[in-house]
Amino acid sequence: MKVLLADEYGFCFGVERAVEMVEEAIAEGDTVRTLGPLIHNEQEMQRLGGFGVQTISKPVQIQRGETAVIRAHGVTPEVQDELEKKASKVVDATCPFVTRVQKLAARAAEQNRHVIVVGNPDHPEMIGVKGYAPDHAFVINGVDEVAGLPRLRNPLVVSQTTIKAQNFFDTAAAIKSKTDDEVQVVNTICSATRDRQDAARALAGMVDAFYIIGGRHSSNSRKLLAVCLEQCPKSFLIETDEEINADDLKGVKTVGVTAGASTPNWLIDKIVKHLESIGEDMELPLD
Ligand code: SF4
Repeated sequence: MKVLLADEYGFCFGVERAVEMVEEAIAEGDTVRTLGPLIHNEQEMQRLGGFGVQTISKPVQIQRGETAVIRAHGVTPEVQDELEKKASKVVDATCPFVTRVQKLAARAAEQNRHVIVVGNPDHPEMIGVKGYAPDHAFVINGVDEVAGLPRLRNPLVVSQTTIKAQNFFDTAAAIKSKTDDEVQVVNTICSATRDRQDAARALAGMVDAFYIIGGRHSSNSRKLLAVCLEQCPKSFLIETDEEINADDLKGVKTVGVTAGASTPNWLIDKIVKHLESIGEDMELPLD
């Protein structure tokens, strides 16, 4: 049985960078506290927990002497200030792609322009971005919510980094009806999610079974599963190698593997090795 990895899988640039920054702080002997879970992967959080990394939910929980970590989603300037006041050190692991959205929003607000961000208003990234353009920003999910916007002044339209491009462009086009001014549209979607889906789709048609490694609550992992199921009915979302049932692999000659953006490489390697060992043990059918 051959095990093939998708061309793009696992940690995106921003998550990899955030984990590396936490590892550097650990190596320097810091007591590390992350504001919100650093990544949505239980196994990786357990590994970091072994080095004393703990998650806090509010800046007020930081104690003097501790290092506070801002995760890849970023935070509002107020939350950042609060952390700077309370913590001995702040590690800002905001993904540079998110920082770009924050800066665009802040600059437009300084110019007294409206900022429309297309995304989920409850997502931490959106809460952070909105904080950079107080009293000027609106976060809307999509085209259906455009009607509820007021008349807009020289609007800037940007996006949450992980939304679908079609939703963004449709919404940006609809926003033109809300202003007599020119609408500035800046596509701030990050390609990491789409690249992983495209790579999974390309491989799914070539394999007999597919394993998607990722958290059951991770939306990008669940989307990868849906993409693989379109072409490969034997597609499974798993968190650990213990969930692989060797019976599912009877008669399988080629198995594909991909992983969500929060899945660490050590876990992917472990699962690939496990699949390879099942393949070695298995008797191929005689056809
Ligand atoms: S998905 Fe893109 S924007 Fe979000 S953390 Fe990863 S690289 Fe950064």
